Amino acid sequence: MRSKIVAGNWKMNKNLPETEALLTELAAKLPDTQAEVMVAPTYVNLASAVRTLDSSVIEVIAQNMHFAESGAYTGEISADMLLSIGVDTAIIGHSERRAYFGETDEILAKKVVTALGKNIRVMFCFGEELEDRKSDNHFNVVESQLKNALFSLEASAWSKIVLAYEPVWAIGTGETASADQAQEMHAFIRKTITEAYDATIANNVSILYGGSVKPGNAGEIFGKPDVDGGLIGGAALVADDFVAIIKAI
Ligand code: PGA
Repeated sequence: MRSKIVAGNWKMNKNLPETEALLTELAAKLPDTQAEVMVAPTYVNLASAVRTLDSSVIEVIAQNMHFAESGAYTGEISADMLLSIGVDTAIIGHSERRAYFGETDEILAKKVVTALGKNIRVMFCFGEELEDRKSDNHFNVVESQLKNALFSLEASAWSKIVLAYEPVWAIGTGETASADQAQEMHAFIRKTITEAYDATIANNVSILYGGSVKPGNAGEIFGKPDVDGGLIGGAALVADDFVAIIKAI
């Protein structure tokens, strides 16, 4: 059985006191849930977040990591650094990393290999742009993103991978893929993984949807059979909204 997951990607928001306040509020309001709940504060506040939270209830995850083990990479963060503060899941491939920081499929493939080599769970993000969908190319784009970054992995690596399908046109725009569009793509992703590996791997991997998930639309999206939860941006910055989204799963 694959896990249900609701993860909050805080992006470049919340300073230290704000981080501690939001985490404390979240911990106090957290509903009983079958879902794994995760939050990704900014790097400088990760260690504090780990200390603030009970990791068996809310897991603290990283928004990114570098592919090199260590060395002359000014401004970057390694897998070992994350592990040393108790963080063992990292988001890799977020569309903002791809768009603003030049992260290509090739770089992301290296990051995935490094993370898995360190036993860090990877939440791998991917998704098409608006032009891809308009030109009916969205399935091809998603398939090639998965193939380029993930399909060289050994089958056993897939137990440490979570996928997050995030159509770029729906991120931070208020525009959400309809629940049917999400389901259609998630089913396609499982079919693609079945062809590259097998049905067991495809059925065991959690596939999250991300892109303007809010309390008002979460229930319908999470109700789809191939949607196993969400990666939440803006709505994760407000405790009551994030809690409502967790309740929707
Ligand atoms: P959003 O962001 O919920 O603000 O659209 C989602 C994401 O980027 O993960």
